[in-house]
Amino acid sequence: MKWKDQIVHLKAYQPGRSVEEVKKQFGLEKIVKLASNENPFGSSSKVQEWVQSYASSFAIYPDGYTTILRTALSEHLGLNEKQLIFGNGSDEILQIVSRSLLEPGKNTVMAAPTFSQYRHNAIVDGAEVREIPLMDGAHDLEAMRAAIDDQTAVVWLCSINNPTGVHLTKDALVTFLSQVPQDVLVVLDEAYYEYVVADDYYNALDMIQSYSNVLVTRTFSKAYGLASFRVGYGFGSEEVIQRLEPVREPFNVNTLAQGAAVAALSDQEFIDTCRAENRKGLEQFYQFCQEESLFYYPSQGNFILIDFQCDSDELFEYLMKKGYIIRSGQALGFPTFVRVTVGSEEENEGIMQAMKSFIAETAIR
Ligand SMILES: *Cc1c(COP(=O)(O)O)cnc(C)c1O
Repeated sequence: MKWKDQIVHLKAYQPGRSVEEVKKQFGLEKIVKLASNENPFGSSSKVQEWVQSYASSFAIYPDGYTTILRTALSEHLGLNEKQLIFGNGSDEILQIVSRSLLEPGKNTVMAAPTFSQYRHNAIVDGAEVREIPLMDGAHDLEAMRAAIDDQTAVVWLCSINNPTGVHLTKDALVTFLSQVPQDVLVVLDEAYYEYVVADDYYNALDMIQSYSNVLVTRTFSKAYGLASFRVGYGFGSEEVIQRLEPVREPFNVNTLAQGAAVAALSDQEFIDTCRAENRKGLEQFYQFCQEESLFYYPSQGNFILIDFQCDSDELFEYLMKKGYIIRSGQALGFPTFVRVTVGSEEENEGIMQAMKSFIAETAIR
């Protein structure tokens, strides 16, 4: 068959180990999954209520315009409804952008390490990938600016950056955006927006007002706790959104997901609580790292990247046997670090105990 050259050596996404699989393999009763930055507190009770009350037919296609969610979200953000695009997760928005702008002969600029899908999509679409190493866990915006040329179609900014948890400051972003040519789309991936507390963080709504070449993506998968439903969205200038819309599949956000997202959006108290709990959890980890003299990046997200100065696959295996699933930094471009999702207080306490035993045992060897 006539496969595209660039997909022949491409590897499929490696999903983390499933809870059931790990339980069986190690004969464990309880597993704590802190691997995919899902919300340890689940989602708003309003979502549960809505799902239980759902009484329409499963035989009917979803609303392809996502009307009710669109209205609710445009009011929540203070945007015109035509400035919004919805996706089957924000992953799909990233893919729509890639399909719309990237092709052989074009290039795309991103940080490294960062969220893997920017690169993955660009490769499938045949564009040249220009990866600019992080500086102290943050985007090197000057070097990224310098990598842009006439063939650059998209720049990806991950704020906060997955896997480091480091945010872009307002000053740095404004300086960058004022220098990027108007015909280059800048994607600001804000998957963890709801968790951010930094004072020097930018306001994405102001950015799209000032720069019509900016597209912001956010998701219901992380703080809203709806990862299983797959709902994400993008917002930007009407012009950008109306270019992307024809590339979107007609019924990409399913009916249950749309309703669940509306219910979740209506409960901002839940989000406020999760943000506060997450900060407390991060403080637990910071204290642990300081006590154990481990390097970490202070995080604006619901995860933390910690350097154990060992092959992180070893720590990953060790923790798994104790019932904790995390992400080894090996696959994330940080081979001696692990990325841990911030859990509930008890879960954090538990995994830190397990990490302490790992440190004690490996020091003996
Ligand atoms: C989780 C994540 C996404 C994707 O989220 P969806 O579930 O597809 O909405 C996008 N970007 C980053 C940086 C993420 O961590």
